[in-house]
Amino acid sequence: MSRFWSPFVKDLVPYVPGEQPRVENLVKLNTNENPYGPSPRVIEAIRAELNDSLRLYPAPNADTLKAAIADHYGVEPSQVFVGNGSDEVLAHVFHGLFQHGRPLLFPDITYSFYPVYCGLYGIQGQPVPLAEDFTLRVEDYRQPNGGIIFPNPNAPTGVLLGLEQVEAIVAANPESVVVVDEAYIDFGGETAISLVGRYDNLLVTQTLSKSRSLAGLRVGLAVGHADLIEALERIKNSFNSYPLDRLAIVGAVAAFEDHDWFEQTRQAVIASRQRLTAELAELGFDVLPSAANFIFARHPQHDAATLAQGLREHKVIVRHFRAARIEQFLRITIGNEAQNKALLAALRELL
Ligand code: PMP
Repeated sequence: MSRFWSPFVKDLVPYVPGEQPRVENLVKLNTNENPYGPSPRVIEAIRAELNDSLRLYPAPNADTLKAAIADHYGVEPSQVFVGNGSDEVLAHVFHGLFQHGRPLLFPDITYSFYPVYCGLYGIQGQPVPLAEDFTLRVEDYRQPNGGIIFPNPNAPTGVLLGLEQVEAIVAANPESVVVVDEAYIDFGGETAISLVGRYDNLLVTQTLSKSRSLAGLRVGLAVGHADLIEALERIKNSFNSYPLDRLAIVGAVAAFEDHDWFEQTRQAVIASRQRLTAELAELGFDVLPSAANFIFARHPQHDAATLAQGLREHKVIVRHFRAARIEQFLRITIGNEAQNKALLAALRELL
């Protein structure tokens, strides 16, 4: 801290991301990256863009990417917003789409960036307890609010809310923006984008970091009513006119064009999750039903923090949260076969 810090900066509590160690031989299962890598067509497209065009600014509207996304989801480009990762998209959402003076509802176990954005933008967050089995109860989202946000599937639990229940929350809150953060939806859920034509208060966010294996490229998106998208554009254009660089735009377009790669790799993650879930259950773990590319598991006889530390000593990194109700869980990213094998071998030594 220095005397130059404003009281605002002094009070900021920033988000702490999972660690990104640079050690080569680690089995990295801590930040839900995709082990199968991006489509080769993405790499080709980025290589082709590595030329003199980099001296030119990118398209301020990322219009080729918006067109590709609109085409993929059967919406209009005016219903699509893009940003530097869905974290940035969410920052703009918190900045401009939730009401002040009324609570923003989100689950009490959820993506820990939401309370951070509440602090940044002066929004009063109101955590809503999940049920005993970690499911979200629709009836709890009928209380007065200035907005609602939840991940679907939820993070870090992986538990999915069915599309009908998502719709029930949206329909019950016509005067609030309801944001469904679908960072992990492609691994087992049904997207709520199919509902945006019917509800002007619904905004769905997604990312290319997970199912398209492009966490390093930083591309996220939102789909909703054109008026909500226009609000996000206004905020973005008051912040940075160029949301995505040229490499990110061409790479992301190629990712949406290679449907086969997307389909094969997401199916591989789902199959790997099913195998890993069964193997962990055999080792005595309770595993929450997951529709994401990670699982949330606890062992009735072993302390989670001790297990996480033991795994680290075996060069396997998983995520452990020191938060009420979940401190006995480990969040484990679904790896490829070799990574899962290394995880299981380490656990067999530790249990
Ligand atoms: N939402 C949720 C629920 C997440 O877990 C993540 C990943 N940490 C994000 C959004 C942000 O992902 P990105 O910024 O890489 O798009």
